[in-house]
Amino acid sequence: MSLTLFDYRIRQRDYLLSIARALVSRLNLRAVLRLILQASVDMLQGQSGLIALRNDDGAFSFWASYGLPAALVSEFEPLVADVPANADLLAGEELLIPELSEKLGQIAEQTGLLLRQVVALPMVVERELLGVIFIFRSHSLRFSPDDRRILGSFADYAAIAVNNARLYESAVTERRRLDALLEAIGDGVLVLRPDLSVERMNRALSAITGWRTADAAGRPYDEIFVWERRNSSRTLAQAVEQGWPFRERDTLYVEGELRRRNGSLISVGITYAPLLTRGGRVLNIIAVVRDITRFREADALKDTFISVVSHELKTPVAIIKGYAETLLRPEAQRDPGLLQEMLGAITEEADRLARLVDDLLDASRLQAGGLPFRDVEDVDLRLIARRVVSRYASQSERHTLRLEFPEQFPTVRGDPRRLEQVLDNLVSNAIKYSPAGGEVVIKGEVKPAEVILSVSDEGVGIPLDEQERIFDRFYRVENPATRAVSGTGLGLYLTRAIVQAHGGRCWVHSVPGAGSTFYVALPQETRLTLWQAPSVSLR
Ligand code: ADP
Repeated sequence: MSLTLFDYRIRQRDYLLSIARALVSRLNLRAVLRLILQASVDMLQGQSGLIALRNDDGAFSFWASYGLPAALVSEFEPLVADVPANADLLAGEELLIPELSEKLGQIAEQTGLLLRQVVALPMVVERELLGVIFIFRSHSLRFSPDDRRILGSFADYAAIAVNNARLYESAVTERRRLDALLEAIGDGVLVLRPDLSVERMNRALSAITGWRTADAAGRPYDEIFVWERRNSSRTLAQAVEQGWPFRERDTLYVEGELRRRNGSLISVGITYAPLLTRGGRVLNIIAVVRDITRFREADALKDTFISVVSHELKTPVAIIKGYAETLLRPEAQRDPGLLQEMLGAITEEADRLARLVDDLLDASRLQAGGLPFRDVEDVDLRLIARRVVSRYASQSERHTLRLEFPEQFPTVRGDPRRLEQVLDNLVSNAIKYSPAGGEVVIKGEVKPAEVILSVSDEGVGIPLDEQERIFDRFYRVENPATRAVSGTGLGLYLTRAIVQAHGGRCWVHSVPGAGSTFYVALPQETRLTLWQAPSVSLR
C-alpha cells in the first residue's frame, strides 16, 4: 500500500470529478453522500465510515454508511451523541478522536469489527456545522497534512451537497406554504407574468371565473378577465401601456362585471399589485379578485329601499295634507257630510301609513336576525279568514270574496296577529292585482299532518320566472296593467317569513292573464321557531 502522492492526487481528482458530476446531476442527497463517503474512506485507507447530519432539532443522525452492515449502524450512536459538545468539531477542526477510542473499543468488541481509529471530519458552511464524516481505520495511522487537504475538499463538497439539499427543501416548503396560502384565501388570486399572461391562479378564482387552473395557464390575462361592464376608467393593459406600475406599492383597482367562462356575469373588484425586482423591473403582477355581488346587491337594495320609502310614504302624507288643508277652509267645516268623508279618508291614509311603517320595521327586524312571537295560542283560521273577508268585502264592487272551509277545521298553534297579517296580505294582493275584478276564493283544506290555506284570484297572474322572486324583499313584477298599483314589495317577503316561522311553507301557482293561487301550509302541531331571515336572496 505504498501509494505515491502522485497516485493520491490522480485518485483524488477522479473522485472529485465524479462527486462534482453527482452534485450537478441532482442525484438525491443520500446518493451523493454515499459517494463522498466512499471516496473519503478509500483515500484515507479506512475500513468503513458514516456520515451524520444535523437535524432541525440540533441532534445528529446518520445519513450514509459505507463498509458497515446496516444492522450495526445504530451501534455508533455514541459517536454522534458527543458531537454537539465537541468544541473542535464545532470549530470546524478535523479530528482523530482518541477520547472515543474506549467507546470505539467497546463497539469493536460488540460488533466484531476491526476498529482502531476514527477520523472525524466536520462539514461546515458559513461557519455552521452541518454534519460530520466519520472514517474508521483498522490500524492507527498518522493524519498527515496531505490527508487533511484531500479530505478537506471532500468534506467541502459534502457540505455543499447538504446545503443545496437544504435550500432546495426550503424552496419546496416555501412553495408548498405559498400553495396552501393561495388555496386558503377566499378571494381569487391570479399571478401574472410581465407579459400579462397567466402564471398561476387559485381555486377561488376558478370558482369566480369558471376557468380551470390548467386551462388558464399561459393565456393572456384578458381571456380570463373579460369585462362586460367596467366602472373604472382603465384596464390593466391600458394602465401598463401608460407606464404603470411606477413603484412597488403602486396598486391598481378595477371594478365592474366580468363575463364568466359559461357566459354568466359576476360583479368583481380586482386589485393589481406589482412585484418588482430590486432594479425596478416587473417580476409578477398579482391580481386579487373579490366577488362583490353582495355589495352590489346591498347597494341596489338600498336604492330600492329609498325609492320605495319615499314614494310609498309620500303618497299618504300628501293625501292627508290635502284633506287637512281642505278641512281648514270654513266652508268645508260647515258641511257635516264632507267633514265625515274627509276625516274618514284621513284615518284610512293614516292607517295605511302605520301599516307601511310596521312592514318596514318588520322587514328590518327580520333582516337583523329575529323577533319572537308575542302571543302563541290555538288559532282558528276560519275566524281570521272571516274577519279579513269582511274587512275587504266592502272595499271593491268588482270583486266577490268567497270562503270555502270544511265543517271540521282544526286549530293551529301560532300567533293570531301574524297569521291574520298573512291572510290580509294575500287577500289584499288578490284584489290589488286583479284590477278587472273577479272572484277571490279563500279556501281551507285539511291534510293528515297540515292544513292548507289558499287564496285565488282571476287577476293578471305572474310570469313563471318571477314566481320565486316575488317572495324577495322589495321585489315587484313589472306589469303595465298594475303599474299604478301601489306597494312596497314587502308583503310576500313577510308572509313567507311568518309562515316559515310557524314551521310551514308558502308557494304560488299562477297563469299569466288567468290568475294566481297562493298557498300556505301550516303543520297541525305547530312548532314555533324564532323568526329568522328566510332563505331568499337579496335582490
Ligand atoms: P306589493 O304588493 O307591496 O308590491 P308583495 O310582496 O305583496 O308586495 O308582492 C310582490 C309582488 O308580487 C307584487 O308587486 C306583484 O307584482 C306580485 N303579486 C303578488 N300577489 C299577486 C297576485 N295575487 N297576482 C299577481 N301578482 C301578484
